[in-house]
Amino acid sequence: MNEMLSGIINNAFFVFFPIFLYYLFYHQGRDRFFNNDKFILTILFSISVTLCMFFPYQFLMTEDYLFDLRQVPLIIGTLYGGYIVGAVLFVVSAVVRLIIGGGDGVVIALLNQFAIFAVVPLFRRAYFKLVHRKRIAVITMISAGSLAFNAFAGALLFNDPLLEVLDMWFILLLNQSLFIILTTIVIERIMKNNYIEQNMQKHEKLEVISHLSASISHEIRNPLQVIKGFIQLLHTKEYDREKQKEFYQYMNEEIESAERIISDYLMFAKPTFDDQETISVEREIEKAVSIIQPYANLSSVSIQYTGLASDHLIDCDHQRFKQVIINIARNSIEAMEGGGKLTFKVKGDKDHVLVIIADTGKGMTGEEVIRLGEPYYSNKATGTGLGMMVVYSILKNIHGTIEVNSMPDKGTEFLIRFPKSMQQPK
Ligand code: ADP
Ligand code: MG
Repeated sequence: MNEMLSGIINNAFFVFFPIFLYYLFYHQGRDRFFNNDKFILTILFSISVTLCMFFPYQFLMTEDYLFDLRQVPLIIGTLYGGYIVGAVLFVVSAVVRLIIGGGDGVVIALLNQFAIFAVVPLFRRAYFKLVHRKRIAVITMISAGSLAFNAFAGALLFNDPLLEVLDMWFILLLNQSLFIILTTIVIERIMKNNYIEQNMQKHEKLEVISHLSASISHEIRNPLQVIKGFIQLLHTKEYDREKQKEFYQYMNEEIESAERIISDYLMFAKPTFDDQETISVEREIEKAVSIIQPYANLSSVSIQYTGLASDHLIDCDHQRFKQVIINIARNSIEAMEGGGKLTFKVKGDKDHVLVIIADTGKGMTGEEVIRLGEPYYSNKATGTGLGMMVVYSILKNIHGTIEVNSMPDKGTEFLIRFPKSMQQPK
């Protein structure tokens, strides 16, 4: 009894371990079991089939038959993986069966294993159209059919006494059904979770976009409204030159405020986040520096940038990358009213590219650093409080991180870490 139980438990473990390993290491971002990881899953399933076959178990009522759960990984692997995976699993199981050897069993086993390889893939198309519950029903029937095949093949080809050991076949049926159902449920659950996870990410991105577009149109409408008001005033009544000048002054301020909002967001408010490209951090920083150089000159800030000797690659839309650099650099320049030094550095390690932007400006208290990135958080008379929010949103989308070290009256240092691109430099 004990022996039988431990045999079954061993087999159950052999059946489950590929799924657990897969779940631990490979599940993220995968949409269909076996679709993305055919190679590794085929190896895991081959090991599973082999172990099942080398450590079979025996039922109490008969000494003549040995069983194992090989059909579970064989059927699941062939069904989810298709003909190529099925072929590998067939070859592995055939070789193992020949190594184990012994009597009539070999022929039946080989026939059965071949039948699984030949027939099961025919179900694939229909199978993947089914809802999860029906899939479990179908796979249970395939498993039962496969056992019936063995029973009848034994009876027909070798006159095995089918009726006398009907109870054993029945228990075997329950046994194998239980494990194939459990395994399928786990696989289907993993796939469903992946699906939900992916959709949530998409949903989150859309939410950021809709939130941003709503607030940008709101923010720009205000100045436009004010400008419109002044134009109407000028239109309906004759004002003296002084009054007119005053109005134009107001209108100009409103236009500038709209411009600031647009430039804080501008490149960010593009409709998708998916147009990723591989860019050189050094080249893009160079471009960003040339854009902010005039602004720095205006505040007598000198820019130091060395790093053009190398090329570190990351995957990010080049506009958004520049937006990150420009929004941070602008804040730095604005923090150095009486002039100062703005430094850019680029470093790379195994997995990341690190961009360091440091200023000698007025710095921030710990509290202020924490509030960075909050929408509309600004300490400036004409600030939008959008610059850092946009920086944080962009970085979140490309899995970048930012660390801020700041000392009041000393300066601020931004450490921005980007995941390194998989592309190799040309
Ligand atoms: P804005 O620049 O429109 O005020 P931001 O989101 O770009 O909005 O910045 C928010 C606030 O964070 C700024 O108003 C400023 O007080 C603070 N800040 C950002 N960067 C720096 C910096 N380099 N040095 C000092 N303060 C900074
Ligand atoms: Mg700013």
